[in-house]
Amino acid sequence: MKKHNFSAGPCILPEEVLKKASEAIINFNDDNLSLIEISHRSKSFVDVMEKARSLSLELLGLENKGYKALFLQGGASLEFLMVAYNLLNKKAAYLNTGTWANKAQKEAKAFGETVEVASSKDKNFSYIPKGYSIPEDADYFHCTSNNTVAGTQIKAFPETNVSLVCDMSSDIFSRQLDFEKFDLIYAGAQKNMGPAGTTLVIIKEEILGKVERHIPSMLDYQIHINSDSMFNTPSVFAVYVSMLTLQWLKDLGGIPFIEEVNNKKAALLYNEIDRNPLFKGVVEKEDRSNMNATFVLTDENLKETFDKMWTDAGISGINGHRSVGGYRASMYNALPLYSVQALVDVMQELERTQK
Ligand SMILES: *Cc1c(COP(=O)(O)O)cnc(C)c1O
Repeated sequence: MKKHNFSAGPCILPEEVLKKASEAIINFNDDNLSLIEISHRSKSFVDVMEKARSLSLELLGLENKGYKALFLQGGASLEFLMVAYNLLNKKAAYLNTGTWANKAQKEAKAFGETVEVASSKDKNFSYIPKGYSIPEDADYFHCTSNNTVAGTQIKAFPETNVSLVCDMSSDIFSRQLDFEKFDLIYAGAQKNMGPAGTTLVIIKEEILGKVERHIPSMLDYQIHINSDSMFNTPSVFAVYVSMLTLQWLKDLGGIPFIEEVNNKKAALLYNEIDRNPLFKGVVEKEDRSNMNATFVLTDENLKETFDKMWTDAGISGINGHRSVGGYRASMYNALPLYSVQALVDVMQELERTQK
């Protein structure tokens, strides 16, 4: 039986997606050729790219609203740099909610002034700062919707006239938001959408073309838009699997459906963390992530017993990030509710052995 995969990324994907992807490796579209040995300019693949782009906009409710979807390479980490290259003239504002947010700001410093509007570093990123103000003259405000490492998630985004840019790598397509508030959204595929190797970038096209500097072609969003996300050979396999996952999500009922499932999974686990005296959560309750739940044992001496129990139960990937320790259970879209139940069962079993 397949393991219960709580990996933080690359992450679990739906079984039916894996099955279709494996078939396409041998014989794609009944063309008697493999998906990964055909031209990316062939109609078969161009259709895949177009489908992936249109499904992304459709699921987010951003069709016909001036947005373009791109599937680029270089991971979310390259977007840290591309965002600044394409949008930063003088000043940009950043919210520091953890490792990734911090890295994004660091890359932008090469292109202008960056202002850290607030930070939760004082408490090891265990909460989301609130009530900060964003300088009116900033070219954009950058935030990270979900802190994959510490397990916090922004529930309310600031009201501002400044352009909103958001790294949604670890919670895109997991919950309903007013996506029109954002001018640029990016997300590495490997957290909630597909395999590693491609990054979804959603851009309101009108925000481009406002910087003076020369932008190298591969880093220029406008060039990627003009070539329909095919400026160079795209990561065909990663784009194809992402497309299958987006289609899977649409067939289930889209974001409204999966949000409900995600809420159920998160409630099941957090209720157990709060109920069971052997465990405690590590972040502020109101800022808890529905994607990555972080928790620790109240008695470290139980670590060996607990680790053996969940391993024996076929659970994988819940060791915490090295900077936080403890445990991190990532509950991305494709993780079934019964996997969360399996983890909760083990937590309850541990409690029984201590009585
Ligand atoms: C994983 C992650 C990244 C880094 O993604 P890469 O694709 O590996 O560059 C950036 N931001 C967030 C929020 C992440 O979870």
